Amino acid sequence: MFGFPFSGPFGAFPQFMDEEMDQDFYEQFPQQEDVDNKELYEILEIPPQSDIATVKQAYKTLAKKYHPDRPGGNQQKFQLIQKANEVLSDPEKKKIYDKQGKQGLLRKLNVKNQQFKKCDPFKLEHKITLKDVYQGAYHKKTLTNVQRTCESCQGQGGQQPSNCKSCKGQKIVQMLVQVQPGLNVVQQAPCPDCKGKGQIFLKENECKQCKGAGRIDGEVEIEIPIEKGVPDEYCVKLYGKGNQKPGYENGDVYVYLQIEQHPQYIRKGTDLFYQKTISLKESLTGLNLELETLDDKIINVTTNQIIKPNSIMTVKEKGLPTFKDELHFGDLHIQFNIEFPTQLNQNIKNQIVEILPGPNSTMKNGNTYKLEEFQLGEFEKHLAKQEENEEDDPNQIGVECSIF
Ligand SMILES: [Zn+2]
Ligand SMILES: [Zn+2]
Repeated sequence: MFGFPFSGPFGAFPQFMDEEMDQDFYEQFPQQEDVDNKELYEILEIPPQSDIATVKQAYKTLAKKYHPDRPGGNQQKFQLIQKANEVLSDPEKKKIYDKQGKQGLLRKLNVKNQQFKKCDPFKLEHKITLKDVYQGAYHKKTLTNVQRTCESCQGQGGQQPSNCKSCKGQKIVQMLVQVQPGLNVVQQAPCPDCKGKGQIFLKENECKQCKGAGRIDGEVEIEIPIEKGVPDEYCVKLYGKGNQKPGYENGDVYVYLQIEQHPQYIRKGTDLFYQKTISLKESLTGLNLELETLDDKIINVTTNQIIKPNSIMTVKEKGLPTFKDELHFGDLHIQFNIEFPTQLNQNIKNQIVEILPGPNSTMKNGNTYKLEEFQLGEFEKHLAKQEENEEDDPNQIGVECSIF
């Protein structure tokens, strides 16, 4: 690909130049009698067909002279010098320019564009489970409304094409093109009516299936690979499985994976978090837990430690496999809720007082005078009641600001 745009020293080219058209179109491009292959040499102030060493020397001298940072420098001139050097110091580009001039370069540029022209990607979202992420999977899916080459006309659009009236089958037309504001020139350009094909179909010869378009919306079966440990929102690209268009490379399918919430596990990177409610007895005397993992196995998680409310304990390497490194696993963290008994009879209480360490609430700490007594109440309910009152009180005026 050449590094300069359509406009510039080579003049402008119409926008639809790179739209769908036959590749052999360029071969038929009428050769101009007067090949313009001197302009770039003139910019470098050297004779036409000078060798690459001369080009490089001239570029060095002129680039110094016109560099915009220097006194007497000239940005526009400097850019022209750079572009001229870019073509003439490249053996392949120089050869084309010397032989066919700027038209040759433009043709080459457009053929290259044509070769790499690809259909737009077909994009979709696809839901997967955390189990898919753990185990890896292949999901089959049928896509609808994918642009396919029409099979009944093989993408031709019809039978017995006739010559386009606009260009008389020549594929090209004369067009007025604006080179710069106020300066229009007549240039040859691909015919916009037949899109440079030179041929159109009469209504009765048009393919009934695709109405002359050469393509239809159809269904495509795809298989989506879900790699182990894949991150959320990951985009799987299926090469060439998407839209088709005559003369274009098949488009890709972009599948954006969306991981559904799991009822049990929460994912953070490669680690898994799991909330487990255990009894007070388990929290004090030791835990023996059976846990279903994401690879459909039951594991036994045990500890003899005392488990405090909301504490988190970790089972090493029972998290998710690492993306692109599936032999390494994250950890599984279990956060414990402790379920306390709702009530205990006096007999049990007496036994607990005997067993557990700590001060005994019936001892009154040896105080000789009587203290005022208060009953502990439910914290949250009181808080809610207070908020309700505030809302209900119409006399309460909200404080907007305080001035000191
Ligand atoms: Zn058709
Ligand atoms: Zn035409």
